[in-house]
Amino acid sequence: MSRPARSAEARATLTKVARRTDALSPAQRKVVAQIARLQARGEPLNLTAVKRRHPALLEATYAIVPFWGWKRAIEAAGLEYARLKVSLASAVECRLCGRELGALPIHLAAHGTSVEPYVTEYPGAEIVCEELRARYFMRSPDGGRARRPPVPHWEPLWSAFGGGRGVIHRAAGS
Ligand SMILES: [Zn+2]
Repeated sequence: MSRPARSAEARATLTKVARRTDALSPAQRKVVAQIARLQARGEPLNLTAVKRRHPALLEATYAIVPFWGWKRAIEAAGLEYARLKVSLASAVECRLCGRELGALPIHLAAHGTSVEPYVTEYPGAEIVCEELRARYFMRSPDGGRARRPPVPHWEPLWSAFGGGRGVIHRAAGS
């Protein structure tokens, strides 16, 4: 008895399906299932929103080795990264006093300090809220290159302004 021969086309289709589902590890499938649940609830799924609302999900995603990342997790869930529902924070918390402000630089002076010693003391602390960072990044004088925004290099920055739907990716190391 011989097994039925598969056409090259059928094999290619099976390979594609396998890549999307079977190729995922149990940890990856768990992340994908959670993303699907959040999407079904209509929750924003941009990186920074998930970081605020579901930090454990992001931690689980970044714990996957070799590095998988949020963008690929979103894609594995069958979603298009550039079309995700987006939510940007309009305030950032001062770690020194707990106040929430749009940006900290001027406020830090009231504490007798400035940005540099502040981020040295609180590594990774935000100094400008996401909304302002998005605006800053969208400003592109003379239609030239936009100035580099003060965000971590891996963080996609969304624009919720001027009808902008785009997401700007800067891949790790670029
Ligand atoms: Zn403060």
